Amino acid sequence: MPTPKTMTMHNDSAVFVAGHRGLVGSGVVRQLQQQGFSRLLLRTSKELDLRNQAAVDNFFKAERPEFVFLCAAKVGGILANSSYPADFIYDNLAMQTNILKSALDHGAKKLVFLGSSCIYPKFAPQPMTEDALLTGPLEPTNEWYAIAKIAGIKLIQAFRRQYNFNGICLMPTNLYGPGDNFDLQSSHVLPALMRKFHEAKINGQSQVSVWGSGTPRREFLHVDDLASAAVHLMQHWDDERIVNVGTGSDVTIRELADLIGATVGFDGEIVFDSSKPDGTPRKLLDVSRLQSTGWRPSIPLADGIRATYQWYLEHQVSSVA
Ligand code: GDP
Repeated sequence: MPTPKTMTMHNDSAVFVAGHRGLVGSGVVRQLQQQGFSRLLLRTSKELDLRNQAAVDNFFKAERPEFVFLCAAKVGGILANSSYPADFIYDNLAMQTNILKSALDHGAKKLVFLGSSCIYPKFAPQPMTEDALLTGPLEPTNEWYAIAKIAGIKLIQAFRRQYNFNGICLMPTNLYGPGDNFDLQSSHVLPALMRKFHEAKINGQSQVSVWGSGTPRREFLHVDDLASAAVHLMQHWDDERIVNVGTGSDVTIRELADLIGATVGFDGEIVFDSSKPDGTPRKLLDVSRLQSTGWRPSIPLADGIRATYQWYLEHQVSSVA
């Protein structure tokens, strides 16, 4: 089997960041700019509907991106996934398939695909190694999204084997940071709790309701760390094996709630709402493969939460009731 040629991004390489307005894409853009990459190709979803194959193909034909970060995705928390299953599977399959096919057809030198730790089986041994993929049933609350992401991994591996396409797959753990979604119905736990605690403090409420039992464990990675890993792996990883991207340590939802409550300055009571789902009991990544490439995260959870709260105060205050 031929191995794709090693490709390195240079400061003047044409780099397409798909989904640059999202949490991950905006983090990747900040990272690339910091590192001096000056030819970034960016399109909003209004300018380019990534679900439209012809539009995506025309974009690649005209702009010829050399390197692609595939950060575009329909994402959401536990409730959004179970409320909009069709969007989660269809939009993700369509966007990633269109971009991958056009990247192949128009000679992109290398592509980084962002998956998710929810691709692993619900009861995978913890911490989860990359080999856990497809060894058991998925967590039902987000299987629509997970199936789409698994299809993306397989598409890239198939393109590598059959066409020598240089695509790599990163599986980030739960991400958070500036630009996160703070909508209580569709967000992930960290921004949801930040907003709930903030609004409770402002409105003088004595209680905050946290979904589920508080016992599930989750690992959280700041999006700037993820972006730094994505650029590092674009430059240093050339292999069909997927790579987990995380910190290697996790906290319970109760511990997370306590940490966010303290950061925000909420001194009321935290109550757990057992009518809401817990989701998978634990989701911790084994990060040995990532560490073997020489990369380490640099933002501790408490610092990351403080910085994200600062961002929230500066950007979202108008949405507070
Ligand atoms: P998951 O990692 O795919 O399960 O996605 P989430 O980030 O949405 O949820 C993680 C855990 O946090 C689950 O056990 C949720 O029940 C719990 N959780 C507690 N309060 C909230 C909340 O207000 N919003 C969300 N999305 N999750 C919450």
